[in-house]
Amino acid sequence: MTDSSKLQIAIIGAGIAGLGAAIALKHHPAIDVQVYEKASELREIGASIALGPNGMRTLDRLGVQNALDDEVAFRNKSRYPMIYRHWKTNEIVSTDSHAGEVEYRHLTSRFYRAHLQEALAKHIDPSKIHLSKSFQSVAFDAATKKLIITFTDGTTATADIILGADGIHSPVRTFFVPTSSTAWTGWVAFRSVFPISHVAHIKDLPDEANHFWGPDRTFFVSKLGRDLFTVVGSYQADPNAPDAPYKDSTWNSDGNVDTIREFYKDWSPLVRQIVDAVPHTRVYPNSAAHPLETWVLGNGKVTLAGDAAHAHGGAFAAGGSLALDDAWAFASSILHVFPVDAKKKPTEAEIQKALRIYERTRKPHTDRVMRVVHENNLKKIAQYSEGKKLESDEQLRARIKNRADPSWIHEHDVQAAFAQAVAAEAAGRGASNEQARL
Ligand SMILES: Cc1cc2nc3c(=O)[nH]c(=O)nc-3n(C[C@H](O)[C@H](O)[C@H](O)COP(=O)(O)OP(=O)(O)OC[C@H]3O[C@@H](n4cnc5c(N)ncnc54)[C@H](O)[C@@H]3O)c2cc1C
Repeated sequence: MTDSSKLQIAIIGAGIAGLGAAIALKHHPAIDVQVYEKASELREIGASIALGPNGMRTLDRLGVQNALDDEVAFRNKSRYPMIYRHWKTNEIVSTDSHAGEVEYRHLTSRFYRAHLQEALAKHIDPSKIHLSKSFQSVAFDAATKKLIITFTDGTTATADIILGADGIHSPVRTFFVPTSSTAWTGWVAFRSVFPISHVAHIKDLPDEANHFWGPDRTFFVSKLGRDLFTVVGSYQADPNAPDAPYKDSTWNSDGNVDTIREFYKDWSPLVRQIVDAVPHTRVYPNSAAHPLETWVLGNGKVTLAGDAAHAHGGAFAAGGSLALDDAWAFASSILHVFPVDAKKKPTEAEIQKALRIYERTRKPHTDRVMRVVHENNLKKIAQYSEGKKLESDEQLRARIKNRADPSWIHEHDVQAAFAQAVAAEAAGRGASNEQARL
């Protein structure tokens, strides 16, 4: 039951961002949070998802300690977030490192996405999550000053604030910004998650997360929690080529293991043994969008989080952590204008202020992520597109070693960004001040 005497916040989407935001707001006695999810159940679809120290710290701050547990979060013993190996020789060519001090429980971790979603959902009263509720539209009722949300089943719900956390193709985003769109980046991943028993017999099976790089494709392997193992084979096609393979396939569609066996037939015997043991695979063609002009929508009562706000196509395996940091920043901005001991609900102007602070906290960072993603995609397309001569072994090794350091993404300090945004708002500075610092 919704409670209109409280500040009503409707979260659309029970993914990582939506659940994170609901957890971050749940202790406020005068906030009523309801989560509306399109799916009929929080199903076990998806494969592996990574969280960097930023996402792990945010989970910790939200009190989601069950997700930090070794039972579901797999961390490299070596503490390297990622190990890069040569496709033919298996030798380690390079490693990523954490830039700052990182405690064990905040080390970069890999999850089976369903485990992470389940760990988050455990912190929310199930009566607050409404399944089979697919957002369709929203209207403003001038008499009550409430937003009226309509779902595709014809039912409605009221809210003072809407957080659109409804993923990459966000119907909330397209309702308010009809010109926004996502497009296939040309990057295709074959993802598989299966019991580790399928590959346990393989001598020299990597027991850490490893990324093998070849001249035109990559191969990622990692253990996951609860004795699972993941394999992600991926390659870059030219999305503009009319005959690009998988151009028309849909995200999370059935894949063919024979295709990936063919893909890696010239790779090292270790990689081939792993690929031969993969029992099934699914295809994920990735899409990305360009940054929105603003996240303050619907007359200052609606905003977005996670992929809905900044569909970046999964690059840097950053989507989960970005979503959690959004969730924390959104909740912190609301609590800034409406602290737990506040005597009355925030005014419309105060709600707008909260959404501005949220935008100032997150948008400069996620815009920068998206800019880098699009630049990198263009480089990859130029490098891999049909007819290009593949690079030499020397060039490949140099590319692995000279890749950009991603720690500014994985160790981004959302608390510091929030403090700066609050100070900038208090000083009446324009959002361009933050942008200019990038
Ligand atoms: C089923 C699924 C599997 C995924 N698997 C992987 C994976 O294997 N690896 C990986 O790196 N990333 C995966 N992702 C993406 C990853 O979860 C996100 O990139 C990242 O975590 C950001 O989270 P998010 O909350 O913004 O979006 P998401 O996690 O995508 O969550 C969005 C939620 O909104 C719901 N929704 C969509 N439309 C509506 C609507 N009209 N009304 C109400 N609810 C709606 C969706 O059902 C979903 O639950 C997956 C996403 C989903 C939905």
